[in-house]
Amino acid sequence: MNFLYWTTIVFCRHKVAMLALLLTASLSLSSPTMAATVKNVTANNGVVTITFDDVVHKASVFTLAGPNRIALDIEGVENLGVLNRNTVPDDVVIRSVRMGQYDPTTARVVFDLDKPGIVTNGEFSADGRSFRLNVRSALIDEFESSLGKGRKIFNPPAKFRSAPPKRDYASRARIKKSAKNKNNPRIYGPNNNNLPLVVIDAGHGGHDPGAISPHGGQREKDITLAIAKKIRDKLAATGRIRVALTRENDKFLVLQDRFGIARKIGADLFISIHADSAGSHQANGGTVYTLSEVASDREAQKLASRENKADIINGINLGGADDNVSSILIDLTQRETMNVSADFAKILLREAKPNMRLRSNSHRFASFVVLKAPDTPSILFETGYLTNERDVKFLSTAAGQSKIADSITKAAQAHFARRLANR
Ligand code: ZN
Repeated sequence: MNFLYWTTIVFCRHKVAMLALLLTASLSLSSPTMAATVKNVTANNGVVTITFDDVVHKASVFTLAGPNRIALDIEGVENLGVLNRNTVPDDVVIRSVRMGQYDPTTARVVFDLDKPGIVTNGEFSADGRSFRLNVRSALIDEFESSLGKGRKIFNPPAKFRSAPPKRDYASRARIKKSAKNKNNPRIYGPNNNNLPLVVIDAGHGGHDPGAISPHGGQREKDITLAIAKKIRDKLAATGRIRVALTRENDKFLVLQDRFGIARKIGADLFISIHADSAGSHQANGGTVYTLSEVASDREAQKLASRENKADIINGINLGGADDNVSSILIDLTQRETMNVSADFAKILLREAKPNMRLRSNSHRFASFVVLKAPDTPSILFETGYLTNERDVKFLSTAAGQSKIADSITKAAQAHFARRLANR
């Protein structure tokens, strides 16, 4: 992740404090198109003003909790510039301001809040060269309800608006693909880097068979691989989505390598396929899991520790993130990634419902190592129970596998259509 260029500015009230430059890696982007630079950020009595040296494409703002902050993304900014040292927030709600290059064409400004705060209004100036945001303190209820509301989007006046930055998919893939690596997986589907890329991860493999069915000995690692290949074929056949697999044969991969592959090739979505087992042969149906440090229930927690065992067996340090990623960005990005993952989980369950059996309460949360890529929306799909006779039949036949693949394909199409529309 070599585009991380993170500037942290900590302001103390009434006094110019510290300007720490956290240079995670050099920002070596050359682009033929002109792009704006952020010139200045001020925060004063609930009015935040950001000025640019050129027109930008758009701004969007959203709220995050724990710690409370407001994040503002400005598209069409390729350089952060040097911030004005006279900038001093004298603000009742905002404690400090940070800024980073979120992706090659988006700057993210983060306002750390002293107390719960919400955005009441936002507006570009008539010439599009500055953006004003109004923030006020809020009751905890108000703040919490703002968390689930997604982004507020603001457009500069049409005459003073830059063209949309090149597709995020393309720029991310271009940037992340820096290190040429022969071990990169093959990418299937249309040969067009502008299209979204999905990585399908067939759970288990090699010396780790995963669950084994008491009704015929089918092994989870074989079933997940067969399902993954079906999904690959159907996604590629849409002509709109590119797809890669973490493994294409009976090979063992540590959990970090699985999401590591997705990050390395700039995946837009990561889907890990599994099949569950339970003491009771009655338990049946699929469940979609997304990442949370707090498991939604004890069963989810137990499942996560079972699935995470593959790494413990191999003595691998669990869940260690890349050293070259700043913890600030992980913190920020991971929370947003978790929201996107949860959105995809909902769409997937909607699409899967007519195709297969699902458990009641079929979206659950737990701390799966394989879902810990900070910047790749990820889900883990337990497609059914190998301990249930009907589920095994469904999961190990081409007809059942096709239905799962259809569900994921439809969900992925809906997901990417929505992501593009929200940009
Ligand atoms: Zn599994």
